[in-house]
Amino acid sequence: MSFKPANKIQDLQYFGEFGGVNPSISDSSTYTFLSAKTMFDTFEGNADGCYLYSRHSTPSNLYLGEALAAMEGTETANVTASGMGAITPVLMQLCGAGDHIVSSRTIYGGTYAFLKNFTPRFNIETSFVDITKLDVVEAAITPNTKVLYCESVSNPLLEVADIKGLAAIAKKHNLKLIVDNTFSPLSITPTQFGADIVIHSLTKFINGSSDTVGGVVCGTQDFINELRSVNDGACMLLGSTMDSLRAASVLKNLRTLHLRIQQHSKNAHYLAEKFEGLGLKTVYPGLASHPSHELIKSMLNDKYGYGGMLTVDAGSLDKANALMELMQEKNLGYLAVSLGFYKTLFSAPGSSTSSEIPEDEQKEMGLSDGLIRFSIGLDDDIERTFEMMKSCMKELNII
Ligand SMILES: *Cc1c(COP(=O)(O)O)cnc(C)c1O
Repeated sequence: MSFKPANKIQDLQYFGEFGGVNPSISDSSTYTFLSAKTMFDTFEGNADGCYLYSRHSTPSNLYLGEALAAMEGTETANVTASGMGAITPVLMQLCGAGDHIVSSRTIYGGTYAFLKNFTPRFNIETSFVDITKLDVVEAAITPNTKVLYCESVSNPLLEVADIKGLAAIAKKHNLKLIVDNTFSPLSITPTQFGADIVIHSLTKFINGSSDTVGGVVCGTQDFINELRSVNDGACMLLGSTMDSLRAASVLKNLRTLHLRIQQHSKNAHYLAEKFEGLGLKTVYPGLASHPSHELIKSMLNDKYGYGGMLTVDAGSLDKANALMELMQEKNLGYLAVSLGFYKTLFSAPGSSTSSEIPEDEQKEMGLSDGLIRFSIGLDDDIERTFEMMKSCMKELNII
């Protein structure tokens, strides 16, 4: 039986203060205590169920955190103001001066920039490796390594991490395996294969309406407590806390995630097959031609599909730009970064979201100039969408 993450969300039951079907929003930054003793105990971390101050936690944030923990199969979770606001405190919590990280080289541009340019200031060094080669990953580990970091399906090249294999390496060398699961919520449950900590940018599929940034760290109660510690917790002290109003709205959107992911996957799979059929260089994990197709199939939760992301190589940056502009003109989607929206979004990652990665490194990892990253929308009539995209490609002599 495969894990059923959507059931876990469905089975949660919250009521509002007046019997409302949605939990009440806690619209307060600070909380009163009935006694001074309770306030002291709460600061010491010994008063369960008491709220202190909203940077620490709020009822609304806890509701959303519990729902996401249920989805990812972890004990608990902490929601943050953005995906980067989840990634950076986790790494700062686990690593200090002299420590080392082994990371996939195909990761979100912001995460790459943080590890490449920012953490060295604190004497934390990172080796970037081809995450699909387990022997290369293991060879990069040093006595100072603390963390193994990857994305389950990577941005933007859609490489697939062998989470089980990586977890075995992490265990052997006593490392924490951190998996950013932003590209494959519901489809892949990294803890099922041994991930220690799962991170999402909620900004993308999970919220799904491109109206906010948000993030989450899913992990053990002990680790989340450490992150929230008033004395030395990176979430508490760096302050990337989610606002309560936003936590309430993301929770409402989360409830339709299972329907949206199925539609995103169905549409992306259809287009990927059609694009490949036209002779375009197409990358989609659901295609048999994807180098890790069998691997992702072995990790997939039934029915959510291979996700909404695909890439197509238009041949050159000029062609990619012309195609994206024409598709936008025909209202087939928006020339915008980000993903998980109801409309299709497209961008050329080499000159946008991955521009933090130097050009020679982009080449080495297979990120070509003409690459277009698509986040396929919820289109009801994907056949029509394909016909219209095809005629744009014809007009520009791409096919
Ligand atoms: C967008 C993204 C992030 C960063 O999230 P923000 O919410 O923009 O801070 C991290 N990882 C992946 C894979 C992303 O796509």
